[in-house]
Amino acid sequence: MAPAPALKHWRTTLERVEKFVSPRYFTDCNLRGRLFGDSCPVAALASFLTSERLPYHEAIQQEFRPAQVGDSFGPTWWTCWFRVELSIPEAWVGQEVHLCWESDGEGLVWRNGEPVQGLTKEGEKTSYVLTEKLGDGDPRNLTLYVEVACNALLGAGKDSMIAPPDPDRMFKLSRAELAVFRRDVHRLLVDLELLLGIAKGLGQESQRSFQALYTANHMVNVCDPTRPETFPAAQALASKFFSQRGGESQHTIHATGHCHIDTAWLWPFKETVRKCARSWVTAVQLMEENADFIFACSQAQQLEWVKSHYPGLYARLQEFACRGQFVPVGGTWVEMDGNLPSGEAMVRQFLQGQAFFLQEFGKTCSEFWLPDTFGYSAQLPQIMRGCGITRFLTQKLSWNLVNSFPHHTFFWEGLDGSRVLVHFPPGDSYGMQGSVDEILKTVTNNRDKGRANHSAFLFGFGDGGGGPTQTMLDRLRRLRNTDGMPRVQLSSPDQLFSALEKDAGQLCTWVGELFLELHNGTYTTHAQLKKGNRECEQILHDVELLSALALARSTQFLYPAAQLQKMWRILLLNQFHDVLTGSCIQLVAEEALSFYEDIRSRGTALLGAAAAALSAGEPGPEGLLVVNTLPWPRTEVLLLPRPGGTHSLALVTVPGVGYAPAPSPNPSQAPSQPQQPVGVVQESDGSVTLDNGIIRVKLDPLGRVTSLVLVASGREAIAQGALGNQFVLFDDVPLFWDAWDVMDYHLETRKPVLGQAGALEVGAQGGLRGSAWFQLQISPDSQLRQEVVLDVGCPYVRFHTEVHWHEAHKFLKVEFPARVRSPQATYEIQFGHLQRPTHYNTSWDWARFEVWAHRWVDLSEHGFGLALLNDCKYGAAVRGDVLSLSLLRAPKAPDATADMGHHEFTYALMPHQGSFQDAGVIQAAYSLNFPLLALRVPGPAPATAWSAFSVSSPAVVLETVKQAERNPQGRTLVLRLYEAYGSRVDCWLHILLPVQEAFLCDLLEQRDPAGYLPLRDSRVKLSFSPFQVRSLLLVLQPPRN
Ligand SMILES: [Zn+2]
Repeated sequence: MAPAPALKHWRTTLERVEKFVSPRYFTDCNLRGRLFGDSCPVAALASFLTSERLPYHEAIQQEFRPAQVGDSFGPTWWTCWFRVELSIPEAWVGQEVHLCWESDGEGLVWRNGEPVQGLTKEGEKTSYVLTEKLGDGDPRNLTLYVEVACNALLGAGKDSMIAPPDPDRMFKLSRAELAVFRRDVHRLLVDLELLLGIAKGLGQESQRSFQALYTANHMVNVCDPTRPETFPAAQALASKFFSQRGGESQHTIHATGHCHIDTAWLWPFKETVRKCARSWVTAVQLMEENADFIFACSQAQQLEWVKSHYPGLYARLQEFACRGQFVPVGGTWVEMDGNLPSGEAMVRQFLQGQAFFLQEFGKTCSEFWLPDTFGYSAQLPQIMRGCGITRFLTQKLSWNLVNSFPHHTFFWEGLDGSRVLVHFPPGDSYGMQGSVDEILKTVTNNRDKGRANHSAFLFGFGDGGGGPTQTMLDRLRRLRNTDGMPRVQLSSPDQLFSALEKDAGQLCTWVGELFLELHNGTYTTHAQLKKGNRECEQILHDVELLSALALARSTQFLYPAAQLQKMWRILLLNQFHDVLTGSCIQLVAEEALSFYEDIRSRGTALLGAAAAALSAGEPGPEGLLVVNTLPWPRTEVLLLPRPGGTHSLALVTVPGVGYAPAPSPNPSQAPSQPQQPVGVVQESDGSVTLDNGIIRVKLDPLGRVTSLVLVASGREAIAQGALGNQFVLFDDVPLFWDAWDVMDYHLETRKPVLGQAGALEVGAQGGLRGSAWFQLQISPDSQLRQEVVLDVGCPYVRFHTEVHWHEAHKFLKVEFPARVRSPQATYEIQFGHLQRPTHYNTSWDWARFEVWAHRWVDLSEHGFGLALLNDCKYGAAVRGDVLSLSLLRAPKAPDATADMGHHEFTYALMPHQGSFQDAGVIQAAYSLNFPLLALRVPGPAPATAWSAFSVSSPAVVLETVKQAERNPQGRTLVLRLYEAYGSRVDCWLHILLPVQEAFLCDLLEQRDPAGYLPLRDSRVKLSFSPFQVRSLLLVLQPPRN
């Protein structure tokens, strides 16, 4: 062989090697053109088209018609089943034989009644290995089925990925044949591609780069694609290069197979079930072939689907879990949104998830896994730790638009001081493919160089599923330990985190929320989903609490544990990071709304059953029970159903976590009210003043608040010369991610809504309730109707709002300029609150121009403040002295109908003296969200009021009362309380139920060994640090009979 010339040109050498492996150029003579040897068509092909997603055994019974390559099938969301009859030529004995299959729909191969592999062109899975080496005695003829879904890996968007699905899209089978696969050619291609990657990645300053390039060039010289006998010499050159070792200090990359499957997104939930099967059966096949391949899999819900739809596959997953190759991670039911779910719902993600992992795989997860969510609540560290998790993996903050997050490996300290170890794979992706660039980026991009010498590398196609391929594994194996490159090790998440933990002394700490500077529209998009979520969280809270009380009080009552588990799991499913966020297609949103409806109707029935059990045997005036599910006593105006189908307002006082009889409908028998009645005055200019002696609110004829006075102090809450309750409309055109993003520049397009359709009218005349209402034309197509309501004794004024919304790329907000000055505002989050700046000093400040909150936002200066409460909104902002609540958006992708139509929501305004804590803002926001319940009961309701629990400190909220998950007798309750003010407090929990023993427990309801709580006079003493969440087990006394 001729020696290489002395002088080599970098670019021509590089491109020469590229052409030798190119799938596009020179395939007539290059190495790539030899990847497959002989081929032959399949013996027979037949198909059956259906609009349903049928199980295998049903599908194969159907009538199949002859089909051929080139056939089209569809439309979108249908399924085409292919029966593929194969006859392998005799001459192929000793060869590796593949079924080559290309279609733009996602396929699943079935063999002998079991799924065996996914076939997805976009996921680089276009061939199914029939045999690695055809033996003499092997069967030559076999029949396979291929189930092809009429959607691509990422749905069926018309012309763009996130466009709404094209309902009429047709799919095509473009290849179905048998072929001999040349494994030796494949190996050389992997080597050459890696050498090219190293040459390019390390660049011309690097000695090693030239070594890689010259090795590749030399390989091309010795390798004749038509003569396989030349391959070993080329292979030897590659082996020599890859076996040259690096030094001891090399960075270690922990490569873990992964497949991010969005539980619903650009496809419906039901398709996800099949995506799981397609992706995981492929992973199982890789685990079989590669004993060192480790695959991390999150989301209990998806595993539960596979368990019920594909039991054979599920058994194999369990088997590989025992071998340590299939690693369940995350601990949650689904990969939920990290911002909007309530604190309790976040706990339930782990409670349901960990219980599933323990039951099915024998252990709980030790890593929280949420690579793709749009921000992370500051309460997550405490919730993780309470659920047995100290490690967290994500990467989404790499999407920050403005500020680059300063760490990849760090400690995250939550609102209460809980700490967890966090790792962001420094390659900024969860869908790596094992290329040299990705590996080099993982090293160079790492922001914690010098502090952490280990990184995660998650490989496998994701989002729509797909997962790893053999080629990815082949690449990673070659790079195990090669000079000039980091060490690459196939690892489990546990191996990665254990390595990081060993050397964690140098790591930095990030305190507070992990705010994503992008996708801030997801706090608002699809308002109906947000409302359904909030309502269902409230219903489940109430059903659990009332059922737990009924269980304690009635020996006959059966706690609806199975039903509640089902309802919770449905709610948790819909808190997935592309459902609750509103970033899903119309089909998914419609399903989610029907799920919410289901929870509401089951919940209503269960509330009735619990109320009936609670009131049984206690004679009282009439069959109506007024229930307060909050832990403090409340006196509120309530609309009560009266005999004859009428309703009347009544002022009701109900103790905390308890009930009271409904007051008599006869006003003469009603007790006299100490409170000042609500006064309603309309001036000649059309303005209306509502006054309940606590607050006095003045509305101008357009319904805007010109004055809001805290009567006792005379303090005005509205900024000088400004108008509150001002609706404003913005142009809302993001750069790409329509449903997701609202950009900072939308603020430059602010237009107050001024059009009026009618005058301000007085509604309720005063007394128990006063109100005024008006209508507003938002645009030629959209209208708003609002009733401003003030009740006796109520510290806030409510704004009941109805909107008919028909817009495109507009954003509706409502603003309240406050007579308050503060550099920071306070926002409620899960089990607490946090502050964010009201100014745009730094890029970190202005990147938070649109933020999320739960039930309230407060702007306070010393001694006075204004709080804005809501019953189903999440987007908010406080800039300067203006509080604004984000109401409705109108994005067109991926759901062109998002937010179009009718909406109803309520927000409320509460001026207060002192701090928001002392003024009761937190309690007021709870009251707005958990209305008193007037429940019909069969027979007479109890004659006297009753309370099950009370807490001695207003700073401590009794959030949850439920039956313990794991107790065979069913007579143990779980209580969850948290410190809501940000203070250190000792308090007494007064228990009026027949309780035998009380213990502290963790969020998974496991008893704390040192957590025995002595009961003194039916009370237990509890200590809290700021924002601490504590859970208790209460063992009820055995039934008396
Ligand atoms: Zn995702």
